Amino acid sequence: MELPFAESWKIKMVEPIRKSTREERERWMKEAHYNVFQLKAEQVYIDCITDSGTGAMSDRQWAAMMMGDESYAGASSFFRLKDTITRLTGFTYVIPTHQGRAAENVLFSYLVKAGDIVPGNSHFDTTKGHIESRKAIALDCTIDEAKDTQLEIPFKGNVDPKKLEKALAEHADKIPFIIVTITNNTAGGQPVSMQNLREVRAIADKYNKRVVFDSARFAENAYFIKTREEGYADKTIKEITKEMFSLADGMTMSAKKDGIVNMGGFIATRWEDWYEGAKCYCIPFEGYLTYGGMNGRDMDALAVGLDENTEFDNLETRIKQVEYLAKRLDEFGIPYQRPAGGHAIFVDASKILTHVPKEQFPAQTLTVELYLEAGIRGCEIGYILADRDPVTRENRFGGLDLLRLAIPRRVYTNNHMDVIAVALKNVYDRREQITKGVKIVWEAELMRHFTVQLEPVK
Ligand SMILES: *Cc1c(COP(=O)(O)O)cnc(C)c1O
Repeated sequence: MELPFAESWKIKMVEPIRKSTREERERWMKEAHYNVFQLKAEQVYIDCITDSGTGAMSDRQWAAMMMGDESYAGASSFFRLKDTITRLTGFTYVIPTHQGRAAENVLFSYLVKAGDIVPGNSHFDTTKGHIESRKAIALDCTIDEAKDTQLEIPFKGNVDPKKLEKALAEHADKIPFIIVTITNNTAGGQPVSMQNLREVRAIADKYNKRVVFDSARFAENAYFIKTREEGYADKTIKEITKEMFSLADGMTMSAKKDGIVNMGGFIATRWEDWYEGAKCYCIPFEGYLTYGGMNGRDMDALAVGLDENTEFDNLETRIKQVEYLAKRLDEFGIPYQRPAGGHAIFVDASKILTHVPKEQFPAQTLTVELYLEAGIRGCEIGYILADRDPVTRENRFGGLDLLRLAIPRRVYTNNHMDVIAVALKNVYDRREQITKGVKIVWEAELMRHFTVQLEPVK
């Protein structure tokens, strides 16, 4: 008999979590204005609000922290981090930052000007924010297939080469660089194939442009290339990673994802001019060049985290857990963005709460219902997150309305996944009775989902 699959680690330290009663949750949800961001973490049983900075560090990472060099300038921790990044990516210039959006802020301060256009595959919201706040345009060139949640294709995060080529043919002079997000977070943690990265490179070369990878989940992307793309089954994750980055000119990184640290990020590039340009913004925004917003000990933990998370076994444990949750949802017929992505399951609320009008935010309603059911915290990636149209101030109902269940790395067991699946099934089973959603009582002008105050529709 074939042995079953099990985690590639064992547990050395545990953190107690607490269940609550339905009455408690109803009170807390009301106090939080039906916005899960305003709950206290201790009011949550299983927390799937994000996989960012919520992973569990290994014993090797904790041990490395003790070797942290907190020197202001020239810390040995920086050089250990830099050497690891260079070994994994081939990039020789490295600037640490306090998280991913800070890397974007520093690099884009140098590269993006008013009137520019930055084409890419579904820019992440902070990436888009850092482009748009400079009065430039983030042009989405993702393949159309990404919008169909039920379509199963292996690389649903890909850039559409035709859309990209058109953008370059029409606006080459306004395009400072192309950005490719690996994996494509906004499209549901969907990977980008090596073939697609090569096509992007060819188009970039044709127009003499550079390419940045927004690399928060580059290791998960490499895992999907190994397991789904022809010709990569026998390559190691580190070989695939190196090949991926050979097709880019630089990267921005949120280390809170595939670096498996709680805080951190960096820029890396092969070009001296980009380094020289970006470094002038690192010093005022982040800090001196050999720490740029990170503690020495955190740079050491990151160096080890990057090394560990570019090993197949660690990634396999992670991705198989996300797939496991997906399979449980399949058993119950619950619709989600297919196939399961690398870091989360995106439940298609518009296909479940069909009696809740879109004006009453079905995905937010489902998020609230799941919390009330079992104390599980997901997060709405839907009509509330989409904000209002900047001109008409109308809600934007054009996109998908999803409940995201992000899975922290190395934190929960498959027993927790079972609880999530069954809790969602219980809500799913009574979906016909859920006919009313929520309404907005107070909202901020931008990024309203974090602070919005809601009330159930009576
Ligand atoms: C999280 C993320 C960012 C921003 O990183 P932070 O560390 O949250 O600032 C940028 N791009 C992608 C794809 C991300 O997932």
